Amino acid sequence: MAKVNIMPPRPTIEWQTNGVCNYDCSYCIQSRRYRQGHPSDADIERFLAFFATLPGVWEIKMSGGEPFAFRGFMQHIVPGLAALPHRVSVLTNFSAPLTVLRRFVDLVGDKLEVFSASLHREYVDVADFIAKAVTFRGWLRPETAFVVNNVLVPGTVSELAAVRAAVEAAGLRYFPQVMKTKHGVYEYDAVEAALVRALTGAHPTAREANIAPSYRGRRCWAGAAYFVIDQFGYAFSCRTAKRFGEGYLGNVLDGSFRLKAGPEVCPYDICPCTVPANRGMIEGLATPESGGDAHGDRHTG
Ligand code: SF4
Ligand code: SF4
Repeated sequence: MAKVNIMPPRPTIEWQTNGVCNYDCSYCIQSRRYRQGHPSDADIERFLAFFATLPGVWEIKMSGGEPFAFRGFMQHIVPGLAALPHRVSVLTNFSAPLTVLRRFVDLVGDKLEVFSASLHREYVDVADFIAKAVTFRGWLRPETAFVVNNVLVPGTVSELAAVRAAVEAAGLRYFPQVMKTKHGVYEYDAVEAALVRALTGAHPTAREANIAPSYRGRRCWAGAAYFVIDQFGYAFSCRTAKRFGEGYLGNVLDGSFRLKAGPEVCPYDICPCTVPANRGMIEGLATPESGGDAHGDRHTG
């Protein structure tokens, strides 16, 4: 009997709103060449008009670069999204001043689904970051997920159990991310690999850590209920497909964008996109918990 495709309940877009970033982390997976640029005001209007055409309620997860480092983010994107029916999430390096972050919360209100703050110890003091995070967390509704992302940077992993403990002692959720490279996952030496396992658990789910597993051979809704868009409007079914120059869905700014009709078999050996795994979009994976996922699919932001 033919399989019936029931659309997953939480369709999601990951939108790289801009390339610019105010940090220059030594481990950034985005090369400096790509960490620049942003859409014009006119293109922002086109993005918003495109989002308005999507049927139902989607979650729009924004990252950069650093979204808050782009003037148009707070001036046009956030107010524009606030007027649409969709949900909003953001991945940020959390460098924006608390006054700006307060305005962000006031603008998006109860649309805010997941706020992921990446801890970049090359730029911030851990205690200062945590104090700021606790203040910010206090402004969010209990239903909004607030997550502290931490890349397990090679050469520093032995220091991160203490970071995790400090984050969790402040009542915040810690999300470890293994270091990615252009071609997959970084190969830690034996000592650090054991420490990484201690931080992520031996067999973490996609909600507990991002270890970029393989779902090759399973049917996945990428391209139909999930896709990624870059700052120029080019849309791809998922990050891995984009990396291989595949899964192109068109450009959302020129009207050429088309969603796939349903799920297709995953042909890839690495899946750094936690969204499909966390939201029941990959056949045969355990049903995810309700609530926000970690938005921890990359170590930018
Ligand atoms: S790599 Fe991940 S998101 Fe992409 S098709 Fe495969 S399972 Fe889906
Ligand atoms: S890792 Fe994030 S914060 Fe650091 S340079 Fe890259 S985009 Fe910016």
